[in-house]
Amino acid sequence: MDQALGPRKKIGLVAHDRKKADLIEWVTYNRQILTRHDLVATGTTGTLLEEALGVGIHKLQSGPLGGDQQLGALIADGEIDFLVFFWDPLEQQPHDTDVKALLRIAVVWNIPVACDRASADFMISSPLMEGTYQRQLPDYHSYIERYVTPP
Ligand code: PGA
Repeated sequence: MDQALGPRKKIGLVAHDRKKADLIEWVTYNRQILTRHDLVATGTTGTLLEEALGVGIHKLQSGPLGGDQQLGALIADGEIDFLVFFWDPLEQQPHDTDVKALLRIAVVWNIPVACDRASADFMISSPLMEGTYQRQLPDYHSYIERYVTPP
């Protein structure tokens, strides 16, 4: 099964504290492109990005308070098309399990994920950003056939 993505994408944005300055710089540089899409962010990241961009962003809870899980739920509901997640590779997070879960669910649902600026630059400059795309969804029928044996 596929999901058709139109030119206007729903973009999830998250940055850990020591990566927030990086993300603010990146969104400011890419303001023109980003404001043509719908933006969703974890609480603190969202507040800072709203100030930087001067546009409204749909803000979830702060990451450690459940924002990462909310973003994961949106991905599972087909409500996020593209994730920019600048996680900190040099510092342990109190909500490491949520971080891992978010990265995992993004891969389960075949969502493009940029975890650093170079990846974010490559992804945002892709022609697919402004175009349409058929995103393949996980095939749970074959999963069930393969792994779930009837009693
Ligand atoms: P924050 O959450 O945007 O509320 O800081 C980010 C995170 O640590 O997941």
